[in-house]
Amino acid sequence: MASPLLRATLITTLSRDPSTLPPTPQISQLPNPTPKIVTFQLPERYQPVETYIADELDCDVVNITIGTGDLQKSFNVHKTPLCKKIPYFDKMFNGSFEEASTQRATFPEDHLVPFMLLIGWVYTKTIEIPKSLECDGSEEDPAPHPTTHLLRLFVLAEKLMVPKLADATIDLLSKYCAASCILPHIEYLNEEYKETPEDSKLRLWIARAIAHQFCFSVSESYESEPLKVLLADDVYLLGDFLSALKVQQSNRDGSEPSDPTDFPPCDYHQHAESEPCPYAQEK
Ligand SMILES: [Zn+2]
Repeated sequence: MASPLLRATLITTLSRDPSTLPPTPQISQLPNPTPKIVTFQLPERYQPVETYIADELDCDVVNITIGTGDLQKSFNVHKTPLCKKIPYFDKMFNGSFEEASTQRATFPEDHLVPFMLLIGWVYTKTIEIPKSLECDGSEEDPAPHPTTHLLRLFVLAEKLMVPKLADATIDLLSKYCAASCILPHIEYLNEEYKETPEDSKLRLWIARAIAHQFCFSVSESYESEPLKVLLADDVYLLGDFLSALKVQQSNRDGSEPSDPTDFPPCDYHQHAESEPCPYAQEK
């Protein structure tokens, strides 16, 4: 054993010269008694990032103005993440359009809150839960319900051709409605149905929501006259409603889902039925 004097000398020497210390490991390697190739794949949300959000903010900003009149609002948005996530804006701000020279764009006919949710998603890859009716602060009268904002966000994502955002939005809409035990009012379902193309996955969700409420809701909106007027106004909605109702009626024993939020999420995703779901590993 070293003498107390020698030990003191060694400690002093080591503490004076940190370069002689072994590097501190940043992780502990767990013992692996069976050395073989590990094929376990981390779920997507645990995969290391390729680029930090902060790295993408060292760039120019573009100006986006939404709405008109009292509902109009402008935002400066970092160009790199916006154009990377949404090719529509890449073409707009980096192409030969007027917006590329001014670095400004206006969307007078779009709703404000869905666009704000889209901008939040560009930065964070998650969709903020829209404000409740009580603190919405919207100039719109009546203030839209959070589910109305989400329906409109889906329409916006589809219009700007951002399938990932559309998928995330309808997943969130279903989860929000299921957790709150609600479905959007037929008036707002009808309003957003009219904004969708014929092959939109939102049309299926809306038709199922109307058929489910027609069968189980006590709201007078689902009594014959208002519903008749609404369906008579749009032959596509009428057709989708009847298809959803037919499924409801063939399922009288309740063994199959009826509420649109109980169906498999992939029914509403943008990928084809035969393709694997890109979100299957997310838990
Ligand atoms: Zn899917």
